[in-house]
Amino acid sequence: VVSVKQALAGGTAAADQEVTVRGWVRTLRESKGGLSFVNVSDGSCFAPIQVVATADLANYETEVKHLSAGAGVIATGKLVPSQGKGQAFEIQATKVEVTGFVENPLTYPIQPKQHSMEFLREVAHLRPRTNLFGAVTRVRHTMMMAIHRILTEQGFFWINTPIITTSDAEGAGDMFRLSTLDLANLPRDDKGGIDWKKDFFGREAFLTVSGQLNVEGYAMAMSKVYTFGPTFRAENSNTTRHLAEFWMVEPEVAFADLNDIASLAEVFLKGIFKAVLEERADDMAFFDERVMPGAVARLENFIEKPFERIDYTDAITILQNSGKKFEHPVAWGVDLQTEHERYLAEEHVGRPVVVMNYPEEIKAFYMRLNDDGKTVAAMDVLAPGIGEIIGGAQREERLDYLDRRMDQFGLDKETYNWYRDLRRYGTVPHAGFGLGFERLLVYVCGLTNIRDAIPYPRAAGSAEF
Ligand code: ATP
Ligand code: MG
Ligand code: MG
Ligand code: MG
Repeated sequence: VVSVKQALAGGTAAADQEVTVRGWVRTLRESKGGLSFVNVSDGSCFAPIQVVATADLANYETEVKHLSAGAGVIATGKLVPSQGKGQAFEIQATKVEVTGFVENPLTYPIQPKQHSMEFLREVAHLRPRTNLFGAVTRVRHTMMMAIHRILTEQGFFWINTPIITTSDAEGAGDMFRLSTLDLANLPRDDKGGIDWKKDFFGREAFLTVSGQLNVEGYAMAMSKVYTFGPTFRAENSNTTRHLAEFWMVEPEVAFADLNDIASLAEVFLKGIFKAVLEERADDMAFFDERVMPGAVARLENFIEKPFERIDYTDAITILQNSGKKFEHPVAWGVDLQTEHERYLAEEHVGRPVVVMNYPEEIKAFYMRLNDDGKTVAAMDVLAPGIGEIIGGAQREERLDYLDRRMDQFGLDKETYNWYRDLRRYGTVPHAGFGLGFERLLVYVCGLTNIRDAIPYPRAAGSAEF
């Protein structure tokens, strides 16, 4: 038994060998006189393999003739050079076993034609059978593995931060609360109402919105660490760039400043793009041709050129002088909106761009106050077509400054005592960032909606699976 990928590459030995492939019928064509061309795909690579089945097969009339797209098959036969365009080998079947027919071929959701992305979201369990979602799935895998490899090569340790948390690191109030179904034993307040603040074994708990604070603890011992796992945000807006459940990579580096992690972000992104271009050439060629013309060139171009870095203050001037009519007014002290981020990346620079040193009042409490007293050492990496893909910062390592920022944000210092300990016991300058994995995948593949960058999207109004 070989994968379709191995078969298309000529199997494991000389041609004329007998191989077995297993998979699902992608398309098929029956020509007159008892001859069927069945294209079988098993997810291992972009192209399906052509299985040539003739009336000599014992089950040709009873089964093979009745195959349709989506059926499960195990085909055995001679691997021979193919006359067909774009594929080197095909299989001359000596046996085609049908493991499962498609119940009603006319209503099988994945017809051999182009479906709308909206429709495919309704059949998220079947969409990996399309060319597009097969390619997205393989690129997603390659990117995930590249992330672990690149960070390992840089000397990082992968740690795992809790999914159940008790503090709101981002202060954005978009957390999902945890509760139990044990209604009879729910904690009650004085008036007999449910006390949600005590629902997690006597405490209040949420799903994590970021592992950063926990990662900092480990960076203060292991020097370079990262967390990479699912992250949850109760985003109330229905956008093409927010999911309620997404994956985030968060590296954190001790003895590093803002410039150091801007450089890390650059090495990191370029390494990921390189891996995709090298290992997923067929899939990228498909995105380039069918999804976003220029998808390959823009990655190549991005790898070649150094990152552009712009100060937030200069970015505001650029936006104000752009002559563009933005929906949201631009002013110093106001956070950049997607339209502004996209303008900077798409029109001003034409590539991803790093914006640095944001006003302190629009960024999280843990970011380090700059000497100007007005800005913090924060950076966002903005990509064309999507906007922010990375948010990072140098962290405030001085306890007195941190406390002042916590007061300013109205945070309860008691809750964060463990985090403040990190500044009490051997504090060092440190910095890190968070990369939204699906946003990066959207950028790489040239997709338009983040719901197509994760197998089973979780968002307001998403279908149930
Ligand atoms: P945005 O301004 O786009 O809402 P953010 O500033 O709230 O993003 P951060 O808290 O900086 O996001 O999180 C780090 C990264 O995680 C972001 O740069 C982005 O790539 C990703 N991210 C944030 N929220 C989501 C989401 N709801 N779905 C998918 N990715 C997200
Ligand atoms: Mg947000
Ligand atoms: Mg943001
Ligand atoms: Mg951010």
